[in-house]
Amino acid sequence: MKPVRVRFAPSPTGLPHIGNTRTALFAWLLARQTGGRFIVRVEDTDQKRYQPQSLEKILEILEFLELDWDEGPRVGGPHQPYFQSQRLDHYQKIAQELIDSGVAYYCFCSSDRLEKLRREQKEKGQIPKYDRHCLSLSEKEIEKKKQAGNYVVRLKMPENLNFSWKDLVQGEITINSKDLDDQVLLKSDGYPTYHLAVVVDDHDMKISHVIRGVEWISSTPKHLFLYQSLGWPVPALMHLPLILGPDKAKLSKRHGAKSVLDYRDEGYLKEALINFMVYLGWSYHDNSQILTKEELIKAFDYQKIQKQNAIFDIKKLDWFNGQYIRMKKDEELAQLLKPFAPKEADEDLIKKIIPLVKERLARLSEFRGLAGFFFLSPEVSQSLLKENVRGNYKNYLKEALLVIQSIKDWQEGEITRKLMALIKKKSWQTGDFFMALRIVIAGSRHTPPINDSLVILGKEETIQRLQKFLKN
Ligand code: GLU
Repeated sequence: MKPVRVRFAPSPTGLPHIGNTRTALFAWLLARQTGGRFIVRVEDTDQKRYQPQSLEKILEILEFLELDWDEGPRVGGPHQPYFQSQRLDHYQKIAQELIDSGVAYYCFCSSDRLEKLRREQKEKGQIPKYDRHCLSLSEKEIEKKKQAGNYVVRLKMPENLNFSWKDLVQGEITINSKDLDDQVLLKSDGYPTYHLAVVVDDHDMKISHVIRGVEWISSTPKHLFLYQSLGWPVPALMHLPLILGPDKAKLSKRHGAKSVLDYRDEGYLKEALINFMVYLGWSYHDNSQILTKEELIKAFDYQKIQKQNAIFDIKKLDWFNGQYIRMKKDEELAQLLKPFAPKEADEDLIKKIIPLVKERLARLSEFRGLAGFFFLSPEVSQSLLKENVRGNYKNYLKEALLVIQSIKDWQEGEITRKLMALIKKKSWQTGDFFMALRIVIAGSRHTPPINDSLVILGKEETIQRLQKFLKN
């Protein structure tokens, strides 16, 4: 494939969810695979809905996933994204050209009139559409009304024309223009709408492939008409499938309409998120192949992007995450775990614990529940003991303390041998004995292997915890 020029064009109007980020990932992969260019263009033309925080998050996601881009203004450091709000003059100029060539027109209708029109059309069971009231104004009237400001520019959509294109993902698509509204291109505040700005910028930035969500298909005829009217070539179009929850409903917060940053904060690794996201609409072997970013750059094949909706399955993300956690070197994992460990945790201790928990973690955030007891002495619940241990647990622990105090060589083998000998001598149940020990040492029924844990905890701390418990 020839080098592509692709863009990620987020609107900073809310928190980006996994679908937006998947779009960025696909475009980035295609750019890297073909030796092309990946561009980030912030579509900030909706001043009412603009949220600065949303922009920060979008950029933070790209940085976290290391989806770097290749163009844009730069002062010393890396490239900044392009911002549409910095190109208003340019869109206004193009809007004027469209007016001059009769493809667009001024509209002075008040929002009250438009609202009334919409209501009436709905009541009649018609599709709400502008009635071209302002199209019949004379030059003179237009000039006069323009003085007062407060007008928009609309696209004069052909009334009954088929727009067809061969979508690289969705295949052949034809949409008739008869139900399409005369889209506002330039708003009364002088800002373009998405439809004008996207066409102008994709053309100016020489975008070869427009990659975006399937929800934009219905707008595409408007864009095609603009390309045609401006005499510009149309880029290749790829509309990516929707992402649904496992219940086939639209993705909601509950299923993952969260942002990648939420997942990061829940302890998902970027490698796992990337590997997981790539299968949201793209298919490769059994769709659970572990592929690093470098491997993905090679393997990614846009022709295998699916038409059908993708299903977001958090269990699959957990699985990928667990795999990537196990592939990490202990040193790196220790650093990654640090923010998830109690404040007082030092990195050396985390490193020692890692071999005991690495196989068990699906998310980094589980570290605290599984290993928090290494750092902080737990609250021991009598009822937890009563519910989970048969026999006289106090007695088990009293005897265990004596044995533990006598151990000279504080190693797992020695600890196990001595404790097993005690259990045998007393004819206790191994399960009950160790459950009691586990609950008192860790405050929980679920811990890494307990004798290995005791080694790391140290003899002194182990004795102290037992003594503290037995005192009460
Ligand atoms: N700003 C649009 C969005 O956030 C971009 C759509 C497109 O890529 O053309 O979805």
